[in-house]
Amino acid sequence: LVRLDGITKRFGDTVALDNLTLDIAQGEFVTFLGPSGCGKSTTLRILGGFEQPSEGRVLLRGEDVTRRPPEKRNVNMVFQDYALFPHMTVRQNIGFGLELKGMGKSEIRARQDEIMAFLELEAFGDRYPAQLSGGQRQRVALSRALAPDPALLLLDEPLGALDAKLRAQVQQELKSIQRRTNKTFFFVTHDQEEALTMSDRIVVMSNGRVEQDGTPEELYFHPASRFVAEFIGETN
Ligand code: ATP
Ligand code: MG
Repeated sequence: LVRLDGITKRFGDTVALDNLTLDIAQGEFVTFLGPSGCGKSTTLRILGGFEQPSEGRVLLRGEDVTRRPPEKRNVNMVFQDYALFPHMTVRQNIGFGLELKGMGKSEIRARQDEIMAFLELEAFGDRYPAQLSGGQRQRVALSRALAPDPALLLLDEPLGALDAKLRAQVQQELKSIQRRTNKTFFFVTHDQEEALTMSDRIVVMSNGRVEQDGTPEELYFHPASRFVAEFIGETN
């Protein structure tokens, strides 16, 4: 479904991504894991089209989309701070991307109802983001991203703001949404435990390069380097 082909990204003298190549299949839950500054967010932003690579190509279903803007990629992103529109209700936040897609009013209404039922937000449709709890906001951000039915969902540390209990709950929810929709999820975290419990596949990054790419079991039991062993072993 997705190929990153030799992606390098420089910001002045900083090499954020260093010749990154990855192939990701439809329906995979892929987690990018690594220390602060290793290039996780930059990878997602390049995938989403919010940033242009200095070198290399982004392919979606074999098509080169490197120069294509975000709204034309069939990809959606949930940002770390959720970035909900504060002046719009929950229903309007969810409808925004559907309007952009050019859907008709009744069709939008039906899709809003469907997605709000799916994420148990029916009771909150007329509320504004400021009138919601952190976990509810998180579900709205997810609903908004899922509503236009993107092929690929990019999630940049979407659970960072939640307390431990809510975090565990939303982890399960995310995982179950991914299973039910069979969508491809790119998830970013620097929490090793979260990565191990949620992912089909983990890409461990350091300094803009892939240290190891494998299943949670492979990384845990057969770390490819000392860096991976120490990073994975750091749980708690
Ligand atoms: P964190 O876990 O802290 O979010 P990250 O893995 O997401 O880190 P990135 O945000 O991808 O890291 O940043 C990778 C590198 O690129 C860092 O050294 C960062 O300082 C640099 N960088 C990212 N965005 C910019 C920018 N717009 N201008 C200059 N440097 C940038
Ligand atoms: Mg980041």
